[in-house]
Amino acid sequence: MKTITVFKGDGIGPEIVDAVLKILEAAKAPLSYECFEVGAAEYERHGKLIPDAAFASFEKNKVLLKAPITTPIGKGFRSLNVTLRNKYDLYANIRPAKSNSAVKTRFENVDIVTFRENTEDLYVGVEEQIDENTVHATKIITRKASERIIHDAFAYAKEHGRKKVTCVHKANILKMSDGLFLNIFQTIAKEYPDIEADDKIVDNVCMQLVMHPETFDVMVMPNLYGDIVSDLTSGLIGGLGLLPSCNLGSEYAMFEAVHGSAPDIAGKHIANPTALLWSACMMLENLGMEDIATKIRNAVDAVLEEAKVLTPDLHGNATTQAYRDAIIAHL
Ligand code: NAD
Repeated sequence: MKTITVFKGDGIGPEIVDAVLKILEAAKAPLSYECFEVGAAEYERHGKLIPDAAFASFEKNKVLLKAPITTPIGKGFRSLNVTLRNKYDLYANIRPAKSNSAVKTRFENVDIVTFRENTEDLYVGVEEQIDENTVHATKIITRKASERIIHDAFAYAKEHGRKKVTCVHKANILKMSDGLFLNIFQTIAKEYPDIEADDKIVDNVCMQLVMHPETFDVMVMPNLYGDIVSDLTSGLIGGLGLLPSCNLGSEYAMFEAVHGSAPDIAGKHIANPTALLWSACMMLENLGMEDIATKIRNAVDAVLEEAKVLTPDLHGNATTQAYRDAIIAHL
Protein backbone atom coordinates (compact mmCIF):
# COMPACT_ATOMS: atom_id res chain seq x y z
CA MET A 1 0.00 0.00 0.00
CA LYS A 2 1.44 3.36 -1.06
CA THR A 3 0.20 6.66 0.35
CA ILE A 4 -0.03 9.58 -2.04
CA THR A 5 -0.87 13.24 -1.55
CA VAL A 6 -3.87 14.70 -3.39
CA PHE A 7 -4.61 18.41 -3.96
CA LYS A 8 -8.26 18.86 -4.89
CA GLY A 9 -7.71 22.22 -6.61
CA ASP A 10 -10.61 24.50 -7.47
CA GLY A 11 -13.04 25.14 -10.35
CA ILE A 12 -13.64 21.68 -11.83
CA GLY A 13 -10.81 20.28 -9.66
CA PRO A 14 -12.91 18.68 -6.87
CA GLU A 15 -15.35 17.17 -9.41
CA ILE A 16 -12.67 15.42 -11.44
CA VAL A 17 -10.63 14.38 -8.37
CA ASP A 18 -13.74 12.73 -6.94
CA ALA A 19 -14.26 10.77 -10.18
CA VAL A 20 -10.61 9.73 -10.42
CA LEU A 21 -10.33 8.55 -6.80
CA LYS A 22 -13.51 6.48 -7.16
CA ILE A 23 -12.13 4.86 -10.34
CA LEU A 24 -8.77 4.14 -8.64
CA GLU A 25 -10.67 2.58 -5.75
CA ALA A 26 -12.81 0.46 -8.11
CA ALA A 27 -9.64 -0.68 -9.92
CA LYS A 28 -8.31 -1.79 -6.51
CA ALA A 29 -5.19 0.37 -6.78
CA PRO A 30 -3.21 -0.31 -3.59
CA LEU A 31 -3.16 3.36 -2.66
CA SER A 32 -4.25 5.45 0.29
CA TYR A 33 -4.80 9.18 0.00
CA GLU A 34 -4.02 12.31 2.01
CA CYS A 35 -6.34 14.93 0.46
CA PHE A 36 -6.01 18.70 0.83
CA GLU A 37 -7.94 21.79 -0.20
CA VAL A 38 -5.65 24.38 -1.80
CA GLY A 39 -6.06 27.72 -3.58
CA ALA A 40 -7.97 30.96 -3.06
CA ALA A 41 -10.88 29.41 -1.12
CA GLU A 42 -8.46 27.74 1.29
CA TYR A 43 -6.74 31.13 1.74
CA GLU A 44 -10.10 32.70 2.68
CA ARG A 45 -10.73 29.92 5.23
CA HIS A 46 -7.31 29.45 6.85
CA GLY A 47 -5.02 32.21 5.54
CA LYS A 48 -2.76 29.95 3.45
CA LEU A 49 -3.01 29.09 -0.25
CA ILE A 50 -1.38 25.72 0.43
CA PRO A 51 -1.63 24.57 4.07
CA ASP A 52 1.63 23.56 5.80
CA ALA A 53 0.21 20.06 6.30
CA ALA A 54 -0.23 19.71 2.52
CA PHE A 55 3.41 20.58 1.88
CA ALA A 56 4.46 18.19 4.67
CA SER A 57 2.36 15.39 3.18
CA PHE A 58 3.95 15.80 -0.27
CA GLU A 59 7.43 15.96 1.27
CA LYS A 60 6.73 12.68 3.07
CA ASN A 61 4.97 10.80 0.25
CA LYS A 62 6.99 12.31 -2.65
CA VAL A 63 4.05 11.69 -5.02
CA LEU A 64 1.31 14.25 -5.66
CA LEU A 65 -1.85 13.90 -7.72
CA LYS A 66 -2.89 17.47 -8.33
CA ALA A 67 -6.09 18.96 -9.71
CA PRO A 68 -5.97 22.34 -11.48
CA ILE A 69 -5.71 25.50 -9.41
CA THR A 70 -7.01 28.93 -10.48
CA THR A 71 -4.43 31.70 -10.83
CA PRO A 72 -5.64 35.32 -10.79
CA ILE A 73 -5.01 37.01 -14.15
CA GLY A 74 -3.02 40.25 -14.30
CA LYS A 75 -2.91 40.60 -10.49
CA GLY A 76 -2.82 38.64 -7.24
CA PHE A 77 -0.68 35.75 -6.06
CA ARG A 78 1.91 33.86 -8.10
CA SER A 79 0.70 30.66 -9.76
CA LEU A 80 0.71 27.82 -7.21
CA ASN A 81 1.51 25.43 -10.05
CA VAL A 82 4.70 27.34 -10.85
CA THR A 83 5.45 27.58 -7.12
CA LEU A 84 5.18 23.80 -6.68
CA ARG A 85 7.27 23.06 -9.78
CA ASN A 86 10.04 25.34 -8.50
CA LYS A 87 9.91 24.46 -4.82
CA TYR A 88 10.29 20.74 -5.57
CA ASP A 89 12.50 21.17 -8.65
CA LEU A 90 10.01 19.32 -10.86
CA TYR A 91 12.02 20.24 -13.92
CA ALA A 92 10.62 17.85 -16.54
CA ASN A 93 7.02 18.38 -17.64
CA ILE A 94 6.12 15.48 -19.91
CA ARG A 95 2.89 15.70 -21.93
CA PRO A 96 1.98 12.77 -24.20
CA ALA A 97 -0.65 13.55 -26.87
CA LYS A 98 -1.84 10.38 -28.60
CA SER A 99 -4.83 9.94 -30.92
CA ASN A 100 -7.48 7.57 -29.66
CA SER A 101 -9.23 5.88 -32.56
CA ALA A 102 -12.57 6.19 -30.73
CA VAL A 103 -12.33 9.98 -30.48
CA LYS A 104 -13.20 11.65 -33.76
CA THR A 105 -10.96 14.61 -34.56
CA ARG A 106 -9.59 16.23 -37.71
CA PHE A 107 -6.37 14.24 -37.33
CA GLU A 108 -5.34 10.61 -37.06
CA ASN A 109 -2.14 8.99 -35.90
CA VAL A 110 -0.98 11.81 -33.66
CA ASP A 111 1.58 10.50 -31.19
CA ILE A 112 3.64 13.38 -29.85
CA VAL A 113 5.40 13.66 -26.50
CA THR A 114 6.27 17.20 -25.38
CA PHE A 115 9.14 17.72 -22.94
CA ARG A 116 8.65 21.16 -21.43
CA GLU A 117 11.42 22.68 -19.28
CA ASN A 118 9.52 23.50 -16.11
CA THR A 119 11.62 25.74 -13.87
CA GLU A 120 12.86 28.78 -15.75
CA ASP A 121 12.36 30.89 -18.91
CA LEU A 122 9.83 33.73 -18.45
CA TYR A 123 8.13 31.69 -15.68
CA VAL A 124 10.72 32.82 -13.12
CA GLY A 125 8.18 35.65 -12.77
CA VAL A 126 10.71 38.50 -12.58
CA GLU A 127 8.95 41.60 -13.86
CA GLU A 128 10.04 45.17 -13.31
CA GLN A 129 8.05 48.38 -13.69
CA ILE A 130 10.48 50.72 -15.44
CA ASP A 131 8.06 53.62 -15.67
CA GLU A 132 4.31 54.07 -15.94
CA ASN A 133 4.26 52.78 -19.51
CA THR A 134 7.08 50.24 -19.52
CA VAL A 135 7.49 46.82 -17.93
CA HIS A 136 10.42 44.47 -18.36
CA ALA A 137 10.16 40.69 -17.90
CA THR A 138 13.23 38.50 -17.47
CA LYS A 139 13.75 35.31 -19.47
CA ILE A 140 16.26 32.93 -17.93
CA ILE A 141 17.82 29.98 -19.73
CA THR A 142 20.65 28.10 -18.00
CA ARG A 143 22.96 25.34 -19.16
CA LYS A 144 22.08 23.13 -16.19
CA ALA A 145 18.30 23.24 -16.69
CA SER A 146 18.55 22.93 -20.47
CA GLU A 147 20.95 19.99 -20.34
CA ARG A 148 18.80 17.90 -18.02
CA ILE A 149 15.51 18.35 -19.92
CA ILE A 150 17.19 17.74 -23.29
CA HIS A 151 18.98 14.67 -21.93
CA ASP A 152 15.66 13.38 -20.57
CA ALA A 153 13.95 13.88 -23.95
CA PHE A 154 16.62 11.87 -25.79
CA ALA A 155 16.75 9.19 -23.06
CA TYR A 156 12.95 8.83 -23.29
CA ALA A 157 13.14 8.59 -27.09
CA LYS A 158 15.77 5.86 -26.83
CA GLU A 159 13.93 3.91 -24.15
CA HIS A 160 10.57 4.06 -25.98
CA GLY A 161 11.86 3.30 -29.48
CA ARG A 162 11.09 6.79 -30.77
CA LYS A 163 12.71 7.98 -33.98
CA LYS A 164 13.10 11.73 -33.68
CA VAL A 165 13.54 14.57 -31.18
CA THR A 166 12.68 18.11 -32.32
CA CYS A 167 14.03 21.14 -30.49
CA VAL A 168 11.48 23.98 -30.54
CA HIS A 169 12.94 27.49 -30.14
CA LYS A 170 13.04 31.09 -31.32
CA ALA A 171 16.81 31.36 -31.64
CA ASN A 172 16.51 33.51 -34.76
CA ILE A 173 15.32 36.36 -32.51
CA LEU A 174 16.46 35.31 -29.02
CA LYS A 175 19.96 34.51 -30.21
CA MET A 176 21.58 34.26 -26.78
CA SER A 177 18.91 32.60 -24.60
CA ASP A 178 17.18 30.26 -27.07
CA GLY A 179 20.54 30.15 -28.87
CA LEU A 180 22.05 28.52 -25.76
CA PHE A 181 19.17 26.01 -25.53
CA LEU A 182 19.59 25.08 -29.21
CA ASN A 183 23.36 24.87 -28.93
CA ILE A 184 23.07 22.45 -25.98
CA PHE A 185 20.49 20.43 -27.93
CA GLN A 186 22.86 20.04 -30.88
CA THR A 187 25.69 18.94 -28.58
CA ILE A 188 23.60 16.37 -26.69
CA ALA A 189 22.08 15.05 -29.94
CA LYS A 190 25.54 13.74 -30.90
CA GLU A 191 25.36 11.33 -27.95
CA TYR A 192 22.28 9.72 -29.56
CA PRO A 193 23.33 8.91 -33.14
CA ASP A 194 20.40 6.50 -33.63
CA ILE A 195 17.80 9.20 -33.01
CA GLU A 196 17.13 11.86 -35.60
CA ALA A 197 17.56 15.36 -34.16
CA ASP A 198 16.07 18.39 -35.81
CA ASP A 199 15.10 21.86 -34.73
CA LYS A 200 12.34 24.21 -35.73
CA ILE A 201 11.30 27.77 -34.91
CA VAL A 202 8.22 27.79 -32.67
CA ASP A 203 5.93 29.70 -35.05
CA ASN A 204 6.70 27.25 -37.84
CA VAL A 205 6.07 24.38 -35.40
CA CYS A 206 2.54 25.68 -34.71
CA MET A 207 1.76 25.72 -38.43
CA GLN A 208 3.38 22.32 -39.10
CA LEU A 209 1.55 20.74 -36.15
CA VAL A 210 -1.86 21.57 -37.60
CA MET A 211 -0.82 20.67 -41.16
CA HIS A 212 1.31 17.54 -40.62
CA PRO A 213 1.10 16.44 -36.97
CA GLU A 214 2.19 12.91 -37.94
CA THR A 215 5.69 14.25 -38.72
CA PHE A 216 6.36 15.04 -35.03
CA ASP A 217 7.58 12.52 -32.49
CA VAL A 218 9.28 13.79 -29.30
CA MET A 219 9.61 17.57 -28.87
CA VAL A 220 11.72 19.45 -26.31
CA MET A 221 11.48 23.16 -25.58
CA PRO A 222 11.78 25.94 -23.02
CA ASN A 223 8.95 26.58 -20.58
CA LEU A 224 6.69 29.12 -22.33
CA TYR A 225 6.68 27.39 -25.73
CA GLY A 226 6.00 24.08 -23.94
CA ASP A 227 2.98 25.55 -22.20
CA ILE A 228 1.47 26.89 -25.43
CA VAL A 229 2.47 24.16 -27.89
CA SER A 230 1.23 21.35 -25.63
CA ASP A 231 -2.25 22.94 -25.47
CA LEU A 232 -2.11 22.91 -29.27
CA THR A 233 -1.26 19.19 -29.25
CA SER A 234 -4.29 18.59 -27.00
CA GLY A 235 -6.47 20.14 -29.70
CA LEU A 236 -5.09 17.62 -32.21
CA ILE A 237 -6.30 14.65 -30.15
CA GLY A 238 -9.70 15.93 -29.02
CA GLY A 239 -9.14 18.72 -26.52
CA LEU A 240 -7.80 19.55 -23.10
CA GLY A 241 -10.01 16.96 -21.42
CA LEU A 242 -7.70 14.28 -22.86
CA LEU A 243 -4.14 15.51 -22.22
CA PRO A 244 -2.36 14.15 -19.12
CA SER A 245 1.04 15.14 -17.78
CA CYS A 246 3.67 14.39 -15.21
CA ASN A 247 6.13 16.77 -13.61
CA LEU A 248 9.26 14.92 -12.58
CA GLY A 249 12.31 15.91 -10.57
CA SER A 250 15.06 13.87 -9.02
CA GLU A 251 13.16 13.40 -5.74
CA TYR A 252 9.49 14.31 -6.26
CA ALA A 253 6.80 13.59 -8.83
CA MET A 254 3.58 15.48 -9.48
CA PHE A 255 0.83 14.24 -11.81
CA GLU A 256 -1.80 16.60 -13.19
CA ALA A 257 -4.00 17.26 -16.20
CA VAL A 258 -2.63 19.86 -18.61
CA HIS A 259 -5.86 21.86 -18.48
CA GLY A 260 -6.79 24.53 -15.95
CA SER A 261 -9.69 24.90 -13.53
CA ALA A 262 -12.20 25.61 -16.36
CA PRO A 263 -14.30 28.19 -14.45
CA ASP A 264 -16.74 28.33 -17.38
CA ILE A 265 -18.01 24.80 -16.61
CA ALA A 266 -17.19 24.49 -12.88
CA GLY A 267 -20.09 23.19 -10.79
CA LYS A 268 -22.01 21.97 -13.83
CA HIS A 269 -20.78 18.37 -13.42
CA ILE A 270 -19.86 18.07 -17.09
CA ALA A 271 -16.04 18.20 -16.83
CA ASN A 272 -14.16 15.40 -18.52
CA PRO A 273 -12.00 13.64 -15.89
CA THR A 274 -9.98 11.64 -18.47
CA ALA A 275 -6.90 13.91 -18.52
CA LEU A 276 -6.54 13.65 -14.74
CA LEU A 277 -7.34 9.92 -14.87
CA TRP A 278 -4.63 9.32 -17.48
CA SER A 279 -2.27 11.41 -15.34
CA ALA A 280 -3.13 9.02 -12.49
CA CYS A 281 -2.30 6.13 -14.86
CA MET A 282 1.12 7.73 -15.48
CA MET A 283 1.46 7.87 -11.69
CA LEU A 284 0.56 4.18 -11.34
CA GLU A 285 3.15 3.30 -14.00
CA ASN A 286 5.72 5.43 -12.21
CA LEU A 287 4.94 3.49 -9.00
CA GLY A 288 5.37 0.13 -10.76
CA MET A 289 1.61 -0.57 -10.86
CA GLU A 290 1.44 -0.96 -14.64
CA ASP A 291 -1.19 -3.70 -14.52
CA ILE A 292 -3.69 -1.43 -12.79
CA ALA A 293 -2.90 1.45 -15.15
CA THR A 294 -3.54 -0.86 -18.12
CA LYS A 295 -6.82 -2.05 -16.61
CA ILE A 296 -8.02 1.54 -16.25
CA ARG A 297 -6.79 2.57 -19.72
CA ASN A 298 -8.68 -0.39 -21.22
CA ALA A 299 -11.88 0.56 -19.39
CA VAL A 300 -11.60 4.17 -20.66
CA ASP A 301 -10.97 2.93 -24.21
CA ALA A 302 -14.08 0.73 -23.99
CA VAL A 303 -16.26 3.66 -22.90
CA LEU A 304 -14.85 5.93 -25.61
CA GLU A 305 -15.33 3.17 -28.18
CA GLU A 306 -18.99 2.61 -27.21
CA ALA A 307 -19.53 6.39 -27.42
CA LYS A 308 -22.76 6.12 -25.42
CA VAL A 309 -21.69 7.87 -22.24
CA LEU A 310 -19.45 10.82 -23.11
CA THR A 311 -19.04 14.28 -21.61
CA PRO A 312 -20.04 17.31 -23.75
CA ASP A 313 -16.45 18.16 -24.78
CA LEU A 314 -16.50 14.78 -26.58
CA HIS A 315 -19.89 15.59 -28.15
CA GLY A 316 -21.89 13.56 -25.61
CA ASN A 317 -24.35 14.72 -22.96
CA ALA A 318 -23.27 12.66 -19.95
CA THR A 319 -22.30 14.05 -16.57
CA THR A 320 -18.87 13.52 -15.03
CA GLN A 321 -20.46 11.00 -12.63
CA ALA A 322 -22.17 9.01 -15.40
CA TYR A 323 -18.91 8.85 -17.38
CA ARG A 324 -17.08 7.78 -14.19
CA ASP A 325 -19.65 5.05 -13.54
CA ALA A 326 -19.41 3.79 -17.13
CA ILE A 327 -15.65 3.38 -16.68
CA ILE A 328 -16.15 1.64 -13.34
CA ALA A 329 -18.67 -0.73 -14.94
CA HIS A 330 -15.96 -1.80 -17.40
CA LEU A 331 -13.34 -2.46 -14.74
P1 NAD B 1 -8.69 25.91 -18.93
O1 NAD B 1 -7.74 24.83 -19.34
O2 NAD B 1 -9.18 25.88 -17.53
O3 NAD B 1 -9.97 25.89 -19.91
C1 NAD B 1 -9.86 26.10 -21.31
C2 NAD B 1 -11.11 25.56 -22.00
O4 NAD B 1 -11.07 24.13 -21.99
C3 NAD B 1 -12.41 25.96 -21.30
O5 NAD B 1 -13.40 26.19 -22.26
C4 NAD B 1 -12.77 24.75 -20.47
O6 NAD B 1 -14.14 24.58 -20.22
C5 NAD B 1 -12.21 23.61 -21.31
N1 NAD B 1 -11.77 22.49 -20.47
C6 NAD B 1 -10.64 22.43 -19.73
N2 NAD B 1 -10.58 21.29 -19.06
C7 NAD B 1 -11.67 20.58 -19.38
C8 NAD B 1 -12.18 19.31 -18.97
N3 NAD B 1 -11.52 18.52 -18.12
N4 NAD B 1 -13.36 18.91 -19.48
C9 NAD B 1 -14.04 19.66 -20.35
N5 NAD B 1 -13.62 20.89 -20.77
C10 NAD B 1 -12.45 21.34 -20.29
O7 NAD B 1 -7.95 27.28 -19.25
P2 NAD B 1 -8.31 28.76 -18.77
O8 NAD B 1 -9.78 28.98 -18.77
O9 NAD B 1 -7.44 29.62 -19.60
O10 NAD B 1 -7.77 28.83 -17.27
C11 NAD B 1 -8.62 28.78 -16.13
C12 NAD B 1 -7.76 28.85 -14.87
O11 NAD B 1 -6.97 27.68 -14.75
C13 NAD B 1 -6.78 30.04 -14.82
O12 NAD B 1 -6.80 30.56 -13.52
C14 NAD B 1 -5.44 29.41 -15.10
O13 NAD B 1 -4.37 30.11 -14.52
C15 NAD B 1 -5.62 28.05 -14.45
N6 NAD B 1 -4.74 27.00 -14.99
C16 NAD B 1 -4.26 26.10 -14.09
C17 NAD B 1 -3.48 25.05 -14.53
C18 NAD B 1 -2.98 24.06 -13.53
O14 NAD B 1 -3.47 24.02 -12.41
N7 NAD B 1 -2.02 23.22 -13.86
C19 NAD B 1 -3.20 24.90 -15.89
C20 NAD B 1 -3.74 25.83 -16.80
C21 NAD B 1 -4.52 26.89 -16.33
